[in-house]
Amino acid sequence: MALMKSVSLFLSSGRRASLARKQREERVEETPQTSANNARTRGRRRRQDNRNQGTGSGRMTEDNKPAGRSTTKVTHVKTSNTKLMESLRRQTHFTRLEVDALCKLYKRLVNSANTVIPVAAPVAPVAGITPVQSSGEGVDRIVFRELLHNTFDVITEEVLMDRIFCAFDKNNFGVIRLEDWIIGLSTFLRGTFEERTSFAFFVYDLNNDGYITREEMFHLLKNSLVKPPQEEDPDEGVRDLVELALRKMDCDRDGKISARDFHEAVSSEPLLMEAFGQCLPTDNSCQTFLSTLL
Ligand code: CA
Repeated sequence: MALMKSVSLFLSSGRRASLARKQREERVEETPQTSANNARTRGRRRRQDNRNQGTGSGRMTEDNKPAGRSTTKVTHVKTSNTKLMESLRRQTHFTRLEVDALCKLYKRLVNSANTVIPVAAPVAPVAGITPVQSSGEGVDRIVFRELLHNTFDVITEEVLMDRIFCAFDKNNFGVIRLEDWIIGLSTFLRGTFEERTSFAFFVYDLNNDGYITREEMFHLLKNSLVKPPQEEDPDEGVRDLVELALRKMDCDRDGKISARDFHEAVSSEPLLMEAFGQCLPTDNSCQTFLSTLL
C-alpha cells in the first residue's frame, strides 16, 4: 500500500518532478565555454590540493582525470537516452511525453523496491517453467503484482499474475527492464486487437510451447468454479468447462488450442479473449492511469 501511495503521489506530482529534472539537466548542460572554465578551475584546485598534501607525484588518479572527459560521457549518455526514448516511441502506442513519464514512473518503482523490499522476491514455480533469478535493475515481481492489483484492477490467480509478469519480461531477466516495461504497457494499455490477443495467448500458454493444452486449461480454470460440497468428483465441473472451451476454440480439432485457433475464436467472439482468467487491465483503470500520467 505504501508503494501505491508513492505511485499516486508521483503521478500527481509529475509537474514538480519534471521541474526538478529540468533544473538538474540545466546544471548538467554546461556550455562548452563554462565547461572549459570549470575544468580549468577544477584542475587548478586539484594541483593546489596535491601540492598542499605533498602528493603531486604526477600519477593519474580517478579524481584528476581531465574534466572534459566526464562532460563527454554525460553528453554521450544523454544522446543514447534520447535515442532509446525515440526508439521506444516508435515501437509503442505512446507519445514521447508519455514515454518520458513512464520512464520516470519506472525509476520510481525500481527505487521504491530497492528501499522498501531489500530481498529478491520469491519466484512461484509454474508447471513447465524454470524460475529465473532476477538480475540487474528492473521492476520485480512483488512491485509488479501490487501495480497490477492496485492500479490496473487485475484481480486474478497467482499463476496468471506470474504469466503476465513473464509477458512483460520477454527476455527472462527475472525483472522487468525499462524497455520491456514500456513495450509491455503499450500492449497492456493501448494494444490493438491483434496485440492483446497475442498477449492473452502468451499468458495462457503456460509452458510456452505454442499450444494451450487440456492440462493448461484445467490448471487455469480449476479455481474459477465454486465446488459444491460433498461432490463425488470435485474436478468434474472443471473438466466439462475444458471440453466446452475446446469445442468453442479448437478450430482445427487437434485437441489443443494453437495461436491460430485462439485468434480465430477470439475474432468471432471477443469475450473469449480472457476465457481462462483476467489478464488485461479494466477499461476504467486504463483511462485513469493514462489521464494521470502527464
Ligand atoms: Ca502450452
